[in-house]
Amino acid sequence: MNIPFNKPYMTGKELYYISQAHHNAHLSGDGPFTKKCHAWLEQRIGCHKALLTHSCTAALEMAAMLADIKQGDEIIMPSFTFVSTANAFVLRGGVPVFVDIRPDTMNMDESQIEAAITGKTKAIVVVHYAGVGCEMDTIMGIASRHDLLVIEDAAQGIMAAYKGRPLGSIGHLGALSFHETKNIMAGEGGAILINDPRLGERGEIVREKGTNRSRFFRGQVDKYTWVDIGSSFLPSELIAAFLYAQMEEAERINERRLAIWHTYHQALAMLEAKGLLRRPVIPGHCRHNAHMYYILLSDLTCRTQLIAHLKEQGILAVFHYVPLHDSPAGTKYGHTVGDMKVTQDTSMRLLRLPMWLGLEGALQQTVCEQICAYFMKKRVQQ
Ligand SMILES: *Cc1c(COP(=O)(O)O)cnc(C)c1O
Repeated sequence: MNIPFNKPYMTGKELYYISQAHHNAHLSGDGPFTKKCHAWLEQRIGCHKALLTHSCTAALEMAAMLADIKQGDEIIMPSFTFVSTANAFVLRGGVPVFVDIRPDTMNMDESQIEAAITGKTKAIVVVHYAGVGCEMDTIMGIASRHDLLVIEDAAQGIMAAYKGRPLGSIGHLGALSFHETKNIMAGEGGAILINDPRLGERGEIVREKGTNRSRFFRGQVDKYTWVDIGSSFLPSELIAAFLYAQMEEAERINERRLAIWHTYHQALAMLEAKGLLRRPVIPGHCRHNAHMYYILLSDLTCRTQLIAHLKEQGILAVFHYVPLHDSPAGTKYGHTVGDMKVTQDTSMRLLRLPMWLGLEGALQQTVCEQICAYFMKKRVQQ
């Protein structure tokens, strides 16, 4: 028995579209497949402008440039997140200000944001953990009262919504990931979603090495030149061709993931009722995308034992995140406001179960049975 934690799903059309890109002989960025991906994102998400990038990390780096982050500017964010959420801003000289998360959704605790605002605060970066929306109405209200930008790290959030609004479409800027571990993927890949129309043209410039090349190709200027800071953030057409095959199947992928998620949720209800673990909490106004299925164990020992038990059975379950606020780079470049109790506690107790298309049926049943078997063994030993 070997049940990996993740297994990339391919629709079968990726190679066909890549061969079309080959046939088109347009292999650099912004060709026909990139344009199809942009149109799909703009239509599905309802953003002013969507631009593919080579990763979500790159999209966050672009967001930091568009937010004009300068040396010493403060950016409020959770500590319970992936490094790129913070690193993108540190690269511009920004200072991450870490606040704690909510114990129910593991999203940034919006009630702690205002205490972290100072004269230097420039932006709030929210992370929609597991594709479950942060409390965006409250957060957008705080941002508008204090004149701050809101950037959504929606790396895990494609196809998910908060009060009917797609994640990534609510703040001024959003960032998506198409990394192999995400719901819709192209190996590596990402997109920046620009919701504030004032940032649209500069977004194109920053992504095209700081040049006005996009306007040149549209015939809006007669030569292109260096006009701003920027870098090369666009992916090749081969990546866009692969990605477009996934986008076409996004609805079906989402439904199948949700079915797997609900199977876990039902199978583990009894263990939650017995107080042995806690299942994910999805607020009624959030539509999630089954990006992951996690459980919260009673303590670190229990998690370590369960990981080992599952591994003996050939099942790979993994944990994350190691909090950023007390990491070597986090203490050097950022600081915290308030205590980090929930972040610390969650990082020791959270376990992610295998989640991929193809896990349905007997394989998934085995995972659930082995989790139960672990708790039975534990009870016998006590
Ligand atoms: C995956 C992820 C990223 C990074 O995405 P890449 O496309 O690998 O750069 C950033 N933030 C969060 C919350 C993620 O889950």
